[in-house]
Amino acid sequence: MTEPVCNFVLPRMPSEPLAIGNLAVPARVAVQSTLPVRSPYTGELLGSVPQSDATEVDAVVRGAASTAEAWGQLPIKERTVPLFRFRELVLARLEELAHSAARECGKTLAEARAGVLKGVEVVEYALSLQNLDVGGALEVSGGVRCQVRREPLGVVAGITPFNFPAMVPMWLFPIAVTLGNAFVLKPSEKVPLTAGLLGELMLEARYPAGVLSVLHGGRATVDSLLDHPSVAAYAFVGSSKVAQHVYARAAGHGKRVLALGGAKNTMILAPDADPALAISGIVASFTGCAGQRCMAGSLLVAVGDCEELIEGIVDAARALRLGSDMGALIDAASVERLEAGISRGVVEGARLLLDGRRPVAPAGCERGHWLAPTILDHVQPDSFCAREELFGPVLSIVRVPTLHAALEIERASPYGNATSVFTQSGAVARLVSDHATSGMIGINVGVPVPREPFSFGGTKGSRFGHGDITGQGAVDFWTKLKKVTSKWGPAIDGSWMS
Ligand code: NAD
Repeated sequence: MTEPVCNFVLPRMPSEPLAIGNLAVPARVAVQSTLPVRSPYTGELLGSVPQSDATEVDAVVRGAASTAEAWGQLPIKERTVPLFRFRELVLARLEELAHSAARECGKTLAEARAGVLKGVEVVEYALSLQNLDVGGALEVSGGVRCQVRREPLGVVAGITPFNFPAMVPMWLFPIAVTLGNAFVLKPSEKVPLTAGLLGELMLEARYPAGVLSVLHGGRATVDSLLDHPSVAAYAFVGSSKVAQHVYARAAGHGKRVLALGGAKNTMILAPDADPALAISGIVASFTGCAGQRCMAGSLLVAVGDCEELIEGIVDAARALRLGSDMGALIDAASVERLEAGISRGVVEGARLLLDGRRPVAPAGCERGHWLAPTILDHVQPDSFCAREELFGPVLSIVRVPTLHAALEIERASPYGNATSVFTQSGAVARLVSDHATSGMIGINVGVPVPREPFSFGGTKGSRFGHGDITGQGAVDFWTKLKKVTSKWGPAIDGSWMS
């Protein structure tokens, strides 16, 4: 059955959008300005959220700080109890969350559902920590014992992008709060409503007030948060330009920061690739979420004679229906940016195999932001379309004679999120996975997002800071280690450590 286009249930506005769950913040009397939230499908106004200034940021962080100590001292088994309820609530309200994410972000419903469910997978990882995160102890010399404990950092914050309204926030706060931190979430001002719903569900799950707070706003709000002395750590997900800014500003204050950035993911196509696997995998990779994901494969490096495979890719991409198979772009500025990027590609010598500019919009969605799948062939490896993240359903194809030439292009990329190879040869797959520089590698998989407990994270210009954002990397990021050395009587062996 085809899913409806432009027919979403209106998500409820968060009742207290400044600081969900934070009762320490007084009623909003000082709203200076609000930000409109518009549907990428129709351009209609979905609602608005307040833009928090430095005073409100301070009030929210203080509220979180007043909760953090008591919350962090609870045993992890107690802190995990509300997360079981949160998981059930998210699953029970899956459709509402998916509609909300689809409606404000332009995703198809299937994509929006998948995003929420990937968030649930991270919740399940966080639920398991109470049984896994047991620290360690060793008798280091006779009668002397060393123990290591994980402790929370206090108030921590997450700043998230527009393209996964539920999933990216859920990469962050479930693990951080389970490990004993109070979390301040600043979602993208383009998609703040789904984050508000998640905040409401955290309250309904009976988390204490202030364990999760949701703040709204753009650059100025982020900067106030980054400069606040009481926030101990920041996780950021968004474009590389802003990731670099967040990393430098927070690190300049001596804070812990992990900032994931943008990407230009390479897919290497070998002539021996299984046609069905390669065509569906490549098309899904560059058109899924309308190409607005950091794992989208947007650069196809075709090795040798791949003519038939490329014809199959063009045909499959042309057959996609806007609205039901592929969603909308987030805003008019994105359409403009992409149209300009495609024109630049043509000027730089690329051949346009499929031109998705100015497509016929789905009925009722004429005022939405649309670009159909677009494919540029014979793109030069050092040109704009081969190197820059365009962030839309645009595939740039570079032709090379050898696998080594393909790997050279991959290794020269300034980004490092994902690299995929499509081949039936184990030797080719092995060579690519050994020598590619990205953090996540796909073999006949176009979007190689690791499922939990394998963690998510890239390299090079796709990540500023250390470690991955989920899995064990998140456990390390959201905690500090305390080592306790003790003896309760004279040392037995009299070594220097005693
Ligand atoms: P963005 O960088 O514009 O915004 C991300 C967040 O930063 C938002 O909350 C926004 O309010 C804030 N922000 C924007 N400009 C700012 C500034 N100048 N100073 C301080 N804060 C600022 O990103 P976006 O357009 O929302 O999301 C798309 C980008 O995110 C793409 O580049 C995509 O590849 C990337 N992304 C990366 C990952 C990953 O895991 N590496 C995941 C999802 C998205």
